[in-house]
Amino acid sequence: MKKNYSYLLIGLIAWACQPKETTIDYTAMSDAERLQVATEMAQSTIMVDGHVDLPYRMKVGGFTLQREILDVSVRTDGGNFDFPRSKEGGLDAPFMSIYIPAGNQQIPGASKALADSLILMTERLAKTFPDQFAMAYSPSDIETNFAAGKISLPMGMENGAGLEDDIANVEYFYDRGIRYITLTHGKANLIGDSSYDTVRLYNGLSEYGEQVVKEMNRVGIMVDLSHVSDDTFKDALAITQVPVIASHSSVRKFTPGFERNMSDELIQAMAKNGGVMMINFGGSFIDSAYASGSSKVREHIVNWLAENNMSRSDSAAQAYISEYTAANNPFPTVQRVADHIDHVVALVGVDYVGLGSDFDGVGDSLPTGLKDVSMYPNLIAELLKRGYSKEDIEKICYKNVFRVWKAVEDFARGQE
Ligand SMILES: [Zn+2]
Repeated sequence: MKKNYSYLLIGLIAWACQPKETTIDYTAMSDAERLQVATEMAQSTIMVDGHVDLPYRMKVGGFTLQREILDVSVRTDGGNFDFPRSKEGGLDAPFMSIYIPAGNQQIPGASKALADSLILMTERLAKTFPDQFAMAYSPSDIETNFAAGKISLPMGMENGAGLEDDIANVEYFYDRGIRYITLTHGKANLIGDSSYDTVRLYNGLSEYGEQVVKEMNRVGIMVDLSHVSDDTFKDALAITQVPVIASHSSVRKFTPGFERNMSDELIQAMAKNGGVMMINFGGSFIDSAYASGSSKVREHIVNWLAENNMSRSDSAAQAYISEYTAANNPFPTVQRVADHIDHVVALVGVDYVGLGSDFDGVGDSLPTGLKDVSMYPNLIAELLKRGYSKEDIEKICYKNVFRVWKAVEDFARGQE
């Protein structure tokens, strides 16, 4: 049989002559050029942050449902988050942390009540400033809000204690808009053991905790494994039928012995599960030297204040504190955060890492160059300098977490 190869030949020539997509070499740019590109990239790409503690900051700021809320539609003096700075930094969808301190676990009902009031507060923020903020319950909500120039306020509940002892509350909180639940906070709860707690009640998940994970899969709430103990982490991975997240955890290699961060073994197990770890920017999460330095500095300052008969609010004391701290325990830098991302990428690839700053939740410990939500472009510029592509940046900013979230949505839809 005679074959006509001329079509094949023409096809090959056409393919070879196609203009190749020009790949931009960001590493060859000057720092100023790269920062400009990074800023444009941050603003044109959806950026999700796994953990911003604004609701609790508002609560501490004296929020009640009757009183004016802290107005973050305009630039605020304190805190790390507000609308203008989010716009500058290209942040589009900070997960609002519905944070329940472990102390609430002592009083039956108190955890759920607090979760409800923080959800109302977040909803009120969106209602009060509808041109700036909007609630978001899915990746597609975030895309719609992004197109309208609004900051999305998806919600994650930090501490499964909010479920109390009633499995029906998983669906209740789904209906209230919660899209991830961090299984524990600083203490063991009814669900499982916590990394910060010296007491290990179950050596992992409790039986109730196993039910909770299954129920979260069923209704479509992402399982967040930040804060849990290593055993709880492994138990949850063994049970979940969908990928998980760590909403604000960094790499333990840089903070040896700090169980709150993820070991290489856990990072690999999470990648196998298809999950995403969102890197925490807090100084003591990214650098153990900073963490130990800050406890020494704290001790010195307490003594100095006592010796000089001053309080923290005295302006002379404030000047001394910032000078002493800068000299004796300098903040880590934005490069250190990039080191964490690099480590995850080297270990398992770029598909399993995202951003979970913990802004408004880690006090004055943030690295130089990443002090608030206006500064994400500094981190993106650093990644571009290290050879990351635009596609890599998009994965880190939102594609990875959207992949997990959509898988969780799809699985839940399949359960109906
Ligand atoms: Zn936390």
